[in-house]
Amino acid sequence: MIYVYIKKELAKFETDIRDLCLAFFTLQKITYIIESNTTDESIDTVGAKPCEPQIANDDIVVNDYYTGALSGDRLQIKSELKRQLYNYLSKLTGKTLLWGTLTGIRPVNIVTKIIEDLVGNPLLTDDYIRNELKKEYYISDLKANELIRIAKKEIEILNRPEVKDYKKSYSIYVGVPFCKSTCLYCSFTSFNIEKFSKYVDTYLETLEKDFKSRIASIGGKALTLYIGGGTPTSLNEEQFERLLTIIDKYVDKSKCIEYTVEAGRPDTITKEKLIIMKKHGVTRISINPQSFNQRTLDLIGRKHTVKDVIKKFKLARSLGFDNINMDIILGLPNEHLLNVLKTLNGIRKLKPDSFTVHSLALKRAARLNFELDSWTKNYYLAGLGNQRRAKFCEPEGRREIDKMFKWSEYLAKYLNLHPYYLYRQKNMAGNLENVGYAKDGKECVYNIMMMSERHTVYGFGTATTKKVFYENDGSKRIESEEGYKSVIDYCKSFDTI
Ligand code: SF4
Repeated sequence: MIYVYIKKELAKFETDIRDLCLAFFTLQKITYIIESNTTDESIDTVGAKPCEPQIANDDIVVNDYYTGALSGDRLQIKSELKRQLYNYLSKLTGKTLLWGTLTGIRPVNIVTKIIEDLVGNPLLTDDYIRNELKKEYYISDLKANELIRIAKKEIEILNRPEVKDYKKSYSIYVGVPFCKSTCLYCSFTSFNIEKFSKYVDTYLETLEKDFKSRIASIGGKALTLYIGGGTPTSLNEEQFERLLTIIDKYVDKSKCIEYTVEAGRPDTITKEKLIIMKKHGVTRISINPQSFNQRTLDLIGRKHTVKDVIKKFKLARSLGFDNINMDIILGLPNEHLLNVLKTLNGIRKLKPDSFTVHSLALKRAARLNFELDSWTKNYYLAGLGNQRRAKFCEPEGRREIDKMFKWSEYLAKYLNLHPYYLYRQKNMAGNLENVGYAKDGKECVYNIMMMSERHTVYGFGTATTKKVFYENDGSKRIESEEGYKSVIDYCKSFDTI
C-alpha cells in the first residue's frame, strides 16, 4: 500500500498529486490522506471517510514532498509542487520518467503554444523548446523531440488551405454506442447490440430528433464528420444506411474535408456497408486489428479473426477506400515483443494510410480492471498469473513496452507514415502515450481538432461531448458539456429534456 499525504492547502491539487504518484506507482493501490481525511481510491473520493491510516512496516509513505512557499499564480504553484513531488518520488523509487512531471492528456498543446507565441522570434529554435520543456517539466529529450515534431506537423496541417479557416466551422461527432461484444479493456460507452436490439431503431429515431432540434441553431458548415462509438458498423445494413441518411439530411457537408466512420471491428464490416459508405461520401474508415495474434483476440473478447482483418481490409481497398486507418494496442495481456512484431508485420503487409498505436490504458470502468478478481482465474489459465496489475510498473515491463513503441515507430517510418497526433490517458501501460501516424494528406483532422481544442465539436447521440470554442480579444476558452451516457435515458428522456 502507498500512502500519500496531501496538506490541506494543497488539496486543490489533489488530482495532480495523484496522477504523478500513479505515474511512479502505476496501478498500485494508493490511499490519499488529506489532513485527517482518508481518501481510498478503491472506494472513490465520494465515499471517503475520516479515519486514521493503519500504516504497516512495508507500506510506502509519501509525505513532506513540498517545501516551497505558496507563491505565484495557481499554475506556477502547481508546476513547482509537481517538480518537488517528482524529485521526492524519483529519489524514493530510484526512477525517472520520460514524461517528467507531465500528466495531462494533451502535452502537444504546450509546444504548439510555445511555437505560436514566439513565431518570428529568433529565440524560437528546437533547442529553446527542449530547454523550456526540461526546465518546466523535467521531460526527457526523447519525448521533447517527439512533441516538437508532432506540434510542427499539427501547425502545418492547420495551415493547409482547406483547413486554415477551421475557426469559422465546426466538427461533428456522432456516437453509435453498440458493439457485438465487449472488449476486455473497453472503457467506452458500449452496449451489446444483441441485448439492446430493441433500442437500436428508437436510438436512430432519437438521433434524428437530436439533429432536427439542434442543427438549425448551430448553422454553418461542418469541416469534419466522425462517426464513432461503440462500433457504428455493428448496425445492420438497413439501420446503417438510415444513420448515414439522417446525417445527409441535416448536416451541410459542402465544405466537409473529411468524413470518418470508425468501422472498428472487422466482423461487422460487409461489402454492402462499405458500398453504403461510399454512396454517402465517407472518405476515411478504421479497421482495427488491435493484434494479429488470434490467441490475444480471443482472450480480449474481440470475436473476430486475424483473417477477417486481412479480408475486410482488402475488400475495402478493392471498393476504392484510399484512406484506411488501423489501430493496434501495445501491452495487451500475454503479449510480448514477439507478438507485437507479428502484429506490426501484418500491418506492414497491408500498408494502411494511417495507423494509431495505443498503449493499454486500464481505466476503472474497463472489465479488465473492474472485474479483475473474478477474471484473474482466466488470466491464470492463460498463463499470466495474478501479477497483471504490477506488470507494467516494473522496469522490465516498461522496457518491453518501450521496445514495442520503438518498433512501431520503425514500421511507421518504413511505411512513410509520420506522427501527427498524440494524446495520453491515465493509467497507461508503461506511462506512455497513444500516437497517430499517417501519410501526408491522410491525417485525421478531426483527431487534431479534438486534441488541440481550437474549434467547436458538436456531439450527437450518447457518450458524446460538446466542446464549444470561444475566442474574444485574444483570449480563448473551451466550454465542454457531456451528453447522455445511457441509451435508454437518451431514448426515453430526449423529448422531455
Ligand atoms: S470495439 Fe471499442 S467500443 Fe466496442 S467494446 Fe471494443 S473497445 Fe469498446
